[in-house]
Amino acid sequence: MKNINIEPFSFPGCDMSRPIIIAGPCSAETEEQTLATAQALAALDVKIFRAGLWKPRTRPGAFEGVGVEGLPWMQKVKKETGMYVGTEVATAQHVFEALKYGIDFVWIGARTTANPFAVQEIADALRGAKIPVMVKNPVNPDLELWIGAVERINRAGITQIAAIHRGFSTYARSEFRNHPQWLIPIELHRRLPELPILTDPSHIAGNRTLLAQICQQAMDINFNGLIVETHFRPDEAWSDAQQQITPQQLRQLIDSLKFRKHDIENIPRTVLDDLRMHIDDVDNQLIELLSERMKISKAIGIYKLENNITILQSRRYNEIIRDRNLKAVQKGLGGEFVDKIFETIHEESVLLQSKVMNSKLNNSSTNKTP
Ligand code: PEP
Ligand code: MN
Repeated sequence: MKNINIEPFSFPGCDMSRPIIIAGPCSAETEEQTLATAQALAALDVKIFRAGLWKPRTRPGAFEGVGVEGLPWMQKVKKETGMYVGTEVATAQHVFEALKYGIDFVWIGARTTANPFAVQEIADALRGAKIPVMVKNPVNPDLELWIGAVERINRAGITQIAAIHRGFSTYARSEFRNHPQWLIPIELHRRLPELPILTDPSHIAGNRTLLAQICQQAMDINFNGLIVETHFRPDEAWSDAQQQITPQQLRQLIDSLKFRKHDIENIPRTVLDDLRMHIDDVDNQLIELLSERMKISKAIGIYKLENNITILQSRRYNEIIRDRNLKAVQKGLGGEFVDKIFETIHEESVLLQSKVMNSKLNNSSTNKTP
């Protein structure tokens, strides 16, 4: 039995060919900011507007959105620009308010997708509504959780559903705010080919410089569209300022994108393409983890210096090699191969810690008064 029933999602009168563009500020802040941003976007032919009213913030005390106060501003955007308007919902109450004010589409945020109780509550509140619902990937790289959220919305009778790929949290600090892990949305597409996928480069990048590259990758894979945070004065934004761009910059970004001449039906992505992308992803994570490891190693170097401990601690070194070898062999890796890798890593760590000690010694000798 097919347990998912998705129909092509559409905004009447809107060109739904690739790329579907959704743009607008991270948060609606004031009526002026919401309207000015929407008008600038509409003038550049953007037809679908986003703005967060209820903002899930990592720490309390940050700007948590204007809430229901912003709903009339969204209505005004609709009336004055003809754009479709959408916002994030995280509770049943948000859904009722959004529907009451004629919001055209809603999305479920990454933190909410990670919680099946919250998704179910939203799905129940949406029952009977005839609007598109977009489901962001959960913050953690769990495809089943993402699919589960799509299914819960679908079982509530919503058939116009799209997924939004916004990247995944990682422990290792990386050039991305949220690691794209492209293989996860690609696998989602393989599992649910009828489900449109939009990429949110803003939350993947966390900054402006990486946006274009991420958008291009999404188009190269043949995802359906982009949802990009756009603000009339990005530097002054009350949330996610570093990643927002002006409507004009968004237009330039879209115009700079290159499209493959044929769609995926004509030039199927090969298994090799997918595997190579997976390798790139894994290598990027390896690099990030190595860099994280070296930072820790440097901190250990400083500790050893301050506590007058030698760099090389043979017992600890032997333990590391033995322990990593055991774990790696259990995972089917060659013991010799893993020993070589960890010896190299350890050697680099020792070098780094010697540099730490030397630089401190040099500093203290130059600081000494004769
Ligand atoms: C947002 O779109 O502003 C947002 C909060 O995104 P995410 O749920 O992806 O963090
Ligand atoms: Mn945001």
